[in-house]
Amino acid sequence: MLTLNVAAQLELLKKQIAEACARVGRDPAGVTLVAVTKNHPVAVVQEALTAGQLDIGENYVQEMKTKVEELGSGPRWHFIGTLQRNKVKFIAPWVHLIHTVDDPRLAEEIDKRAAQVGRRIPILLQVNVAGEAAKGGCAPEQARDLALAASKLAHVEVRGLMTMPPFWPAEQVRPFFRELRRLRDQLQSETSLRLPDLSMGMSADFEVAIEEGATLIRVGTALFGAR
Ligand SMILES: *Cc1c(COP(=O)(O)O)cnc(C)c1O
Repeated sequence: MLTLNVAAQLELLKKQIAEACARVGRDPAGVTLVAVTKNHPVAVVQEALTAGQLDIGENYVQEMKTKVEELGSGPRWHFIGTLQRNKVKFIAPWVHLIHTVDDPRLAEEIDKRAAQVGRRIPILLQVNVAGEAAKGGCAPEQARDLALAASKLAHVEVRGLMTMPPFWPAEQVRPFFRELRRLRDQLQSETSLRLPDLSMGMSADFEVAIEEGATLIRVGTALFGAR
């Protein structure tokens, strides 16, 4: 497997982020890079941390837990995979942001476990804007009810929306990023909710996502090579 120099890739990525921001007049400080380390060993995560990376994304609870046991809860650990309700308790003490809440019962479980550990857990609502059968996320028509239900929970903080478009070339997924932003704007104007965050864009399409308003991008392959 090709091993990339993580520090060099990070530097390159930051340059690309800054250029995408410049194209649409955005401040790069408004874009958080989440380095996705699923299926990579602890040593690779450590390399990213040493290079100054603060935000780490993981997809599987057990793998994330093992890495947190080794590296501590200092990094900002983002959960970006499918989350089963019976696993929420394992990540509740330290998870920085859960990107993939698509069901009110999952939000309730997060609320319950957050209360038990005496904190408020930030979450994003995952929306399946392309309507793909195999993808997680609520239907766009359900987003409003989900947002209103989750926002009533005392130990959950709804920060915004997340989406995973089809694996198509970047320009072809632009409409899905645009749609997520439109949905967020609509939710904000129809309710009193503040939804500042949009988690969208991966290695192949983060530049387009930034142009369309992403505040969090989730990048694995471009930093660490193929999994
Ligand atoms: C794996 C994964 C990523 C990173 O994908 P790359 O194409 O490797 O950058 C981002 N988001 C989610 C939800 C993922 O599962």
